[in-house]
Amino acid sequence: MSHAMLWENLKEELTRCQLCAHGCLLKKNDKGRCGVRINKNGTLVSLVANVVTSVQLDPVEKKPLYHFLPGSKIFSVGSAGCNFSCSFCQNFSISQIPPSGRIPGKIVAPSQLVDMAETHSVRSMAFTYNEPTVFFELVHETAALAKNAGIRSVIVSNGYMSQECLQTLGRRLSAANVDLKSFREDFYKKYCNARLQPVLDNLKALKTAGVWLEVTTLLIPGINDGDAELRDLAAFIHNELGPETPWHLSAFHGAYKMAEHPATPLSRLEDAWRIGRAAGLSFVYIGNVRTLLGGNTFCPHCGELVIERSGYAVRLKGKAGICPSCGITLPGIWQ
Ligand code: SF4
Repeated sequence: MSHAMLWENLKEELTRCQLCAHGCLLKKNDKGRCGVRINKNGTLVSLVANVVTSVQLDPVEKKPLYHFLPGSKIFSVGSAGCNFSCSFCQNFSISQIPPSGRIPGKIVAPSQLVDMAETHSVRSMAFTYNEPTVFFELVHETAALAKNAGIRSVIVSNGYMSQECLQTLGRRLSAANVDLKSFREDFYKKYCNARLQPVLDNLKALKTAGVWLEVTTLLIPGINDGDAELRDLAAFIHNELGPETPWHLSAFHGAYKMAEHPATPLSRLEDAWRIGRAAGLSFVYIGNVRTLLGGNTFCPHCGELVIERSGYAVRLKGKAGICPSCGITLPGIWQ
């Protein structure tokens, strides 16, 4: 337990958390919606500033990031809690704090995480598995130490941080994969207890800040996979983030409160892929399922195959990120 960053005292012992777009108002002993920030006698305290639930080496493609150091391993760190409560969460055992308030995980110092990452000789580190916004203090300090050690930092996020959070963290980040879970306000309200607009604003802010950005949409059959919604979503990426922004379409498999919901048919993922390409997006990918369509990276200029993928196996067709045919450099971080 340690003093939190990004909050304000309003009056007497009333505080407002400024870390995410919920902006929770917290009276003495209240916890925020994320379950991991608490008002202790008028001071906001983080319960996860030094807590991790998972530390492992992953293929960077698993985040998913397809235009960021392809084929490399990324040192991946998760903590506990989330500012969303998605009914379909695949990591609910660490994202949703139980009514008992028990926080899972182990105590660790940021310097220990960077030491571990250096031991594995990685070039990047991801804050992932649960929402990195809610363990901001750990991310903030670890990312600074990692940067000094020449290790890039990445977040895998729902994009619901506050502007202050983004401004404070942005300079320490090299890349982000952000979920755009739907393009409908009622989806965010019903399934996530959140709002769409802050996510859209933050996607644009990350782009403006020069953070390499990839977007993921989990397609849940009958819920967020209608043609009109996918066209709207793809148009937003194209018009507001740029046609070079990779869009990952991910297959849903039943989980948490939607364990019985059917999985996404491959044909629906392929339809969505075509919608993304028709919208003018240069890089649309399909994940969480085996398919010949939507795994590889092609040169947007001449159409040549640049990166071939099968599952997490990656084969570069020449120098990373450079088209072997016409020689252009594709958008991304390659070295
Ligand atoms: S991080 Fe978000 S959900 Fe958690 S206390 Fe702060 S404003 Fe509330």
